[in-house]
Amino acid sequence: MVPIEGLVTRPSLRPATAVLALTAVWLLVAVAFGVAGVLMPVPAWLLWPSAIGATGTAMLACRIAAATGQPVISAFWRRITATMVWLCVGSVLQLGHRLFIADTEELTPAAGACFAVAAAFGMMAVVRLPHPRRTWRAGVATGLDMAIVVTAAAIVFSHFLWSADNPAIGGGAATAAFLMIVMIAGSAAVAAVIKAGVTGAGPVLAPALWTLTPIGLLSPAAWILTPVLAPWPHLDPSVASLPVASLLVSAAAWVQARTNTSGRAAAAQPTIVRRHGAWRSISVVPYLAVAAVATMLTVVTVRNGYLSSGLACGSVVLTVLVVTRQLLALLDNAVLLDRLDSQANHDDLTGLPNRRLFTSTLARRTAPTTVAVCDLDGFAALNDQLGDETGDALLRAAAERVGTVTGRDAVVARLLGDEFGLLVPGGDTLLAERLVLAFRTPLRVDSRDLLVTVTAGVATGAGDEVPDLLRRAEVALQAAKYTGADRSREHSGALDATAQHHAELAAALRRGLELGEFRLLYQPIVELPSGAVTGVEALVRWQPTDKPIVSPAEFIPVAEHSGLIIDLGAWILDQACADAAAWQRGHGPSGPRVNINVSARQLLDPDLPGLVASALHRHGLDPDRITIEITETAVFAGGAALETVRELRELGVGLALDDFGTGHSSLTLLRTCPVTTLKVDKSFIDDLNGTAEQEAIASSLSTIASTLGLRAVAEGVETRDQADRLHALGYRYAQGYYFARPVPAADIAALLADPVPVP
Ligand code: C2E
Ligand code: MG
Ligand code: MG
Repeated sequence: MVPIEGLVTRPSLRPATAVLALTAVWLLVAVAFGVAGVLMPVPAWLLWPSAIGATGTAMLACRIAAATGQPVISAFWRRITATMVWLCVGSVLQLGHRLFIADTEELTPAAGACFAVAAAFGMMAVVRLPHPRRTWRAGVATGLDMAIVVTAAAIVFSHFLWSADNPAIGGGAATAAFLMIVMIAGSAAVAAVIKAGVTGAGPVLAPALWTLTPIGLLSPAAWILTPVLAPWPHLDPSVASLPVASLLVSAAAWVQARTNTSGRAAAAQPTIVRRHGAWRSISVVPYLAVAAVATMLTVVTVRNGYLSSGLACGSVVLTVLVVTRQLLALLDNAVLLDRLDSQANHDDLTGLPNRRLFTSTLARRTAPTTVAVCDLDGFAALNDQLGDETGDALLRAAAERVGTVTGRDAVVARLLGDEFGLLVPGGDTLLAERLVLAFRTPLRVDSRDLLVTVTAGVATGAGDEVPDLLRRAEVALQAAKYTGADRSREHSGALDATAQHHAELAAALRRGLELGEFRLLYQPIVELPSGAVTGVEALVRWQPTDKPIVSPAEFIPVAEHSGLIIDLGAWILDQACADAAAWQRGHGPSGPRVNINVSARQLLDPDLPGLVASALHRHGLDPDRITIEITETAVFAGGAALETVRELRELGVGLALDDFGTGHSSLTLLRTCPVTTLKVDKSFIDDLNGTAEQEAIASSLSTIASTLGLRAVAEGVETRDQADRLHALGYRYAQGYYFARPVPAADIAALLADPVPVP
């Protein structure tokens, strides 16, 4: 059955409240009896019925509390139920014995045994609470805290128990044993507080545990009250403590039932979490115990003028325990400080020093030093494709590989994401190259081999230059990425100037975008041999005010690196679709289709397909009127970029592989990437009439394209000879200065009317 929202019934809190009220009534009966007994003679055994009633109702309360979704918590409450059952049975036996067998208040062995079993269950409930997996030191510390509490309790209790004027001793051995049991149960309750702070069931069980802990105070209270209440035998504090303890148990059970009914218990998994706030207050408990003992010892010494040997021995044991606990705390602090220091300076994933440690090491050096930095090519896409876990394993494998490049005196650090740094004493300008080489061998990641290349930058220097080496190496790395040709670069003053130029260019680009300094030119793509314009490629131009026009070859990479390409690309897409729609309306089906260039960075933007769809819709354009041009390199790594490309193709737009033959040029890509057009790079066209090999390549590319049902477009056709040859080799489409240069949209109509045929 499917639960319907709003109709799901949660367990009610009412039974728990009723049982709590009933327990309170039993306590009131006990109090009323106590008060009455002071005023008139009443038999002492009359206290037992309220003890039986209270423990019985508390038992019911525990059963209700045990009805929670979590086995650990249910088990705790089942054990407390057993405790209450045995206390109840013991009380019944004691009352029965008093009424029907012997006219004595002395505790019977059978009842004593029941109470002992009850205490055992109570202890077990506490001991079996879940606890976080701790280090041996933390275990010893908790053990010492417990030992301090129990020793302190033992000193206090034994003093009262064996002091000559305590009438409880007169009750016989069984009474003394019963009192001892209650005493131990009291200590166990205090121990429960300690455990509550470290318990894994924490937020679910802790509030109830805190409600239970005052039970620990009951036994000392009973001891203190025993001599005081001696004149009224019906007010035996040990028996009277049973209804009080029962009320506390019922109250704790009610707190648990409330947690259960609020649904928190079911939602919270019993994770082993140490709650620091609670832990801090727990640590105070042993000290409170010690303070209580110290106060008691002072009072006893002042009153008697001496300290008994038993108490003196006890206080020595306590002192030893406290000192040991302090030493352990000091040791813990030292270890903690070490760990914090290490965490602040190391990377969690790889265990390598982090950027902070790397820069501080660098800052302390003046001797000649080399710094190299590298990052994994296309890591973001790979991480998307492989998933975070394998991505992490890849980073660990890469960290290990980086470490193999240098000797022991080097510092290898993970600087940021997939960027690693190396600090080597002396001048070693080949370090970056060695890094690149080291990654020529595939990395072993999760029992598979992954070939991941890196780009690296290196800088060397001495004296004042050393602290600046990381920045310089990073500038060199960025330069290597910009050019794309070299996988490693060495820093030079010129690179700083370039980096500065790029930064300025990025700022100017942003302004240019706001001021509308961009426009689109269109270069025809013609059919061979007629020269009829079938399509155009949109090519962006930037004309900053009062400055010469900037080539896209210069500003597109800067726009990519600064992320501005996203906004610029959106503008280009919108403008190109607007022009394509105008041609569709003006020329009908024979109007030129428009090719739009999209860079690698844009393909990593998951919003791109949505952006294209909305531009098509906005301008009322058929999807097959545009073709998106992408480069092989952008989609070669697969991952998110390839996913975006597939989504684009599903929209119905064409897809062209631009500059084909200059990138990775894997023929597999033609299968995995749903392209419709190959744009054969200008470099193959340039040398057409030169060597036979060059011609063979150009001709094969045309054949492959037609075999796979793709259209091949020859790019950068500058001469009539080239056009002739291409036609002879089977090319049906071409683009280049020979046919037309990129022109404003307004000039396209004229070119449509006046084709340049290939004779
Ligand atoms: P591309 O996409 O391969 O564009 C072709 C480039 O070759 C254009 O340069 C074009 O003017 C030039 N070209 C065409 N025919 C000839 C020829 O016969 N001889 C010679 N020497 N060159 C020829 P442009 O416009 O400077 O663009 C350069 C590159 O900038 C483009 O290469 C493209 O990668 C990028 N780009 C241009 N416009 C955009 C754009 O709107 N968005 C994006 N993302 N990139 C663009
Ligand atoms: Mg292009
Ligand atoms: Mg091209």
